[in-house]
Amino acid sequence: MPKTARAYVEQELADWERFAVEGHVHAKNPWLPYHEFLTEQMAAIVGAKPVETVVMNSLTVNLHLLLVSFYRPTRERYKIVIEKGAFPSDQYAVASQLKFHGLDPSDALIELTPRHGESTLRTEDIIETINREAASIALVMLGGVNYYTGQAFDMKAITEAGHKAGAVVGFDLAHAAGNLELKMHDWDVDFAAWCSYKYLNGGPGAVGGAFVHERHANSFDLPRFAGWWGHDKATRFLMGPEFHPLAGAEGWQISNPPILQMAALRASLEIFAEAGMTALRKKSKKLTGYLETLINEIDDARISLVTPKDPDQRGCQLSIRVEDKKLHEQIVSQGVFADWREPNVIRVAPVPLYNSFADVCRFAEILRSALK
Ligand SMILES: *Cc1c(COP(=O)(O)O)cnc(C)c1O
Repeated sequence: MPKTARAYVEQELADWERFAVEGHVHAKNPWLPYHEFLTEQMAAIVGAKPVETVVMNSLTVNLHLLLVSFYRPTRERYKIVIEKGAFPSDQYAVASQLKFHGLDPSDALIELTPRHGESTLRTEDIIETINREAASIALVMLGGVNYYTGQAFDMKAITEAGHKAGAVVGFDLAHAAGNLELKMHDWDVDFAAWCSYKYLNGGPGAVGGAFVHERHANSFDLPRFAGWWGHDKATRFLMGPEFHPLAGAEGWQISNPPILQMAALRASLEIFAEAGMTALRKKSKKLTGYLETLINEIDDARISLVTPKDPDQRGCQLSIRVEDKKLHEQIVSQGVFADWREPNVIRVAPVPLYNSFADVCRFAEILRSALK
């Protein structure tokens, strides 16, 4: 929890107490345009322009809203490329979108699978699949970082290949936002969505984000599920019957947003802005490299690293494959916040904003003694 989060939330509570509904305009940080206070800093985190970025909803909701606009299957071109073993919510979202269009996921899904005996995907294989199936692919939608293996994908190369095939390319940045240095605009990605309660420290139920590339900013003919918060600000309160979407990512908003959640997230984004993703990523590579070295030094056949060794193919996270779930329980009992994922992985992520090299060293000692 950012140390400033409480004060940010309390400011809105105080203004609510004082102004009631008039807080929409009279609050110190007026609620009507509140989401705009987060746009610039969030855009910097994902390497986007402000017009391409909006803070709204939560991740899976944003995925659905963007898929409504950017997954446009035709008779010949209708398939979606995803990772096999993608995060379940993404799998459910994509499968339900296919069914919504009357398509059968067993036919319309192309699932990328690591080579036999390997745990992570090779970029060349991803691109080869896209090229092979080019004519039938409508959408390529991968995670920026795989939640299970910690593998970071080459989003630039994948976007290029997807576009060459004539497909739309989107990314789920749940484990990438606030973790990697992202360049959504320069990489020419069509759309992306992410949550703010992982690396972005936005707190429980934090508001997520969405990216829509500038070239779609004025694509008002794209189908979309509309609501009044996506409507032209100048005429929103004229309450007219016709929907006139805002240009850019803001035009995908539906409802007026949760201010208390946004206040908490704002506290965190200011810290990210102060540190900067370039500096954070630099320290992150060192921290994770140090963690990798110490784990390898333990040299115990009961544990192995799943995450790629190449620092450019991972963020903070290392996934440790283990034989026994008890190891996770032992680590946690020593005060470490580590995560268990079925069937056999402990995820650990030294985070550059608040973890130190000493933390990493202590973790390795705890892991070593737990194995004993
Ligand atoms: C955490 C995570 C989600 C969760 O989605 P919510 O809609 O925020 O609950 C979805 N996809 C991925 C890849 C995730 O890592």
